[in-house]
Amino acid sequence: MREPKTYFIRTYGCQMNELDTEIMAGQLQKRGLTPALDEETADILIFNTCSIRDLAERKVMGKLGKMGRGKKQHCLIGVTGCMAMAKKDALFRKFPHLDFVLGTNNITDLGTMIDEALYTRRQIFKTEDKFEENLDYLSAKRDNKIKASVSIIRGCDKFCTYCVVPYTRGQEVSRPPESIVEECRRLVDQGYKEITLLGQNVNSYGKDQPEWNCLFHDLLYRLDRIPGMERIRFMTSHPVDITLDLMQAIRDLPSLCEFVHFPIQAGSNRILKKMHRIYTKEQYFEKVELLRQTVPDVSLGTDIIVGFPTETEEEFQETCDALKQIRYSLAFIFAYSSRKGTPAMRWKDDVPEEVKLDRLQRLLDLQNEISNEERQLMLGNTYEVLVERLNRDGRQLKGRTRCWKKVIFEGDESLIGTLQKVKVHSYSHQTLLGELAKTPHLKVV
Ligand code: SF4
Repeated sequence: MREPKTYFIRTYGCQMNELDTEIMAGQLQKRGLTPALDEETADILIFNTCSIRDLAERKVMGKLGKMGRGKKQHCLIGVTGCMAMAKKDALFRKFPHLDFVLGTNNITDLGTMIDEALYTRRQIFKTEDKFEENLDYLSAKRDNKIKASVSIIRGCDKFCTYCVVPYTRGQEVSRPPESIVEECRRLVDQGYKEITLLGQNVNSYGKDQPEWNCLFHDLLYRLDRIPGMERIRFMTSHPVDITLDLMQAIRDLPSLCEFVHFPIQAGSNRILKKMHRIYTKEQYFEKVELLRQTVPDVSLGTDIIVGFPTETEEEFQETCDALKQIRYSLAFIFAYSSRKGTPAMRWKDDVPEEVKLDRLQRLLDLQNEISNEERQLMLGNTYEVLVERLNRDGRQLKGRTRCWKKVIFEGDESLIGTLQKVKVHSYSHQTLLGELAKTPHLKVV
């Protein structure tokens, strides 16, 4: 067996998976491997998978199926991520040419797995339910030099009935605050301008470790004090754990962006209960009201599932009403698809596909209307934009406001990685178009 020299990691799914890819790439580079240009030429090929949606899983299964042992150019092929946790060694029966399966809680063991797979030529897997806390975050290999994601808590204890995450990522485990502060300090020193704190439910941070005396808002105050910290974001939240302390932190901390992902999922109390979201729509609305009173300029994002088992047209209308009432600036809307291993899988998926797609389209149209009205209100105002890169045309610059709105404007390439004030004059589809502001009159959203 030749010694592997290159690797390629194909990443599916959420930002947490992207971060895990960066951590694994860091481990591989520490071993002296270099990134391959593509899947075909890599000695070690890893699929870092996602199980949230059926489509993401089917894509990986299709790719793995095409890679029979006979056609294989690679020393090793491995599967990591949520699909590894959900399917474990059953993947070997389906794909005999697969060399290793490594769960989300064991990515620290990547090097050992590779050695074992190389030298024993046996298929090996490790998918433990409990997260290993000694993960080497600091050697994550990041390609983006302006924005970085930092993991603060892993797993989820909420058990929404449609979601595989509590089964694939395990229970909540917070990362020690000192380790997070140290990583963020290093990133700021390296010139990073924006840090996104990641977790399935960041608002639960610290609850599993009361002796730390550091809840999510306490952590934010500590991070905001890092000299040179420009922007902090966080993803994602459960409405139940959004506290007044957190709202006040958003209001008071200069680096904390005024954008909150506040997933409602459905507008009907019966469906929310069936989803086990542990709040009613009235409690949700109250919290949004409190947040808007505390941080008047805040922007809200949401996730919504349409066509959940037994959802009626009237209940779907309640979701439409919630959208109209809250007026989110961003909504990720999905048609329900059942996921193996979840409680909802036991219920009949009884909303016909065409009804789901029709509801999905109607909700997308409604959100589009709301977003356009919001963009209209932004015309003529000036916003702080973090310049991230050249636009696809190679001539204009592209960046995001503090509230995560995409902006394109004319400017010199040297502005990439800086914060600029941009006056919005128009928009095209979901992107705001603007010009560098001459006057400093600034809106934050
Ligand atoms: S809060 Fe619910 S939807 Fe979010 S990760 Fe946990 S179980 Fe899944």
